[in-house]
Amino acid sequence: DNFIEVKQLEKTYENGYQAIKSVSFSVKKGDLVCLLGPSGCGKTTTLNMIAGLLNPTGGDIIVNGKSMLDVEPKDRNIGYVFQNYALYPHMTVLQNVMFPMTVGKNKKSKAEAQKIAEHFMELTHIEDLADQKPGKLSGGQQQRVAIARALVQEPQILLMDEPLSNLDARLRLKIREEIRSLVKEVGITTLFVTHDQEEALSIGDKIILFHEGVIQQDDSGQELYLNP
Ligand code: ADP
Ligand code: ADP
Repeated sequence: DNFIEVKQLEKTYENGYQAIKSVSFSVKKGDLVCLLGPSGCGKTTTLNMIAGLLNPTGGDIIVNGKSMLDVEPKDRNIGYVFQNYALYPHMTVLQNVMFPMTVGKNKKSKAEAQKIAEHFMELTHIEDLADQKPGKLSGGQQQRVAIARALVQEPQILLMDEPLSNLDARLRLKIREEIRSLVKEVGITTLFVTHDQEEALSIGDKIILFHEGVIQQDDSGQELYLNP
């Protein structure tokens, strides 16, 4: 019942640096799994290979029984939330959330796109911000917009790369609870990158601990905490 299987994944960058040495892990459907480790240990490189933004130099990524390496990035149906939100500044919140449904070959009618966008804006508590531009919003509000936008295509996987690290401490706690409930409500299989052990322990169903391009531990949070 593994939904994602990463098998002996490797990445050597063009300059010869081997950022990922041989990484294998699996994720069950609907689980929220944290990739934990210090800056530079290869977490983003791993997410980018799953998303198709980078090509692996070895190994395989199987999602729902199918190798992702045979699938074009745009056809992988993966939602990606970045640390810096990456919203379109000239568009309103509603237009940002609708955007993925207005381009590409699975384009929806404007009415249908708006209905779906409004549903996810309610789930992320931003329905009152529909007509605002991102520049007017707080960091937490912007991150909620980015999350709603990542979910409207009903992606098979949600990737989140340090989504809380630009928020102040109080908001970090609040938004991480919101992310956990949302992921469980939607039932989406999620990979969540963080360098913060406490954050990983509080949000993850499972924690995969990275160290310099390899996996050091792949455990439930409890054991990780007791045996650091
Ligand atoms: P993390 O997300 O855990 O902070 P990254 O995956 O971003 O780590 O980076 C892993 C390692 O690969 C780091 O040492 C980083 O400097 C290096 N790296 C990242 N991108 C490139 C690149 N384009 N070319 C060469 N090295 C890179
Ligand atoms: P992160 O926040 O994930 O650690 P970084 O700030 O390390 O990311 O990297 C930002 C960008 O710079 C990424 O596109 C990454 O691929 C690139 N990069 C990181 N390290 C290197 C490197 N040593 N050589 C070339 N590019 C790099």
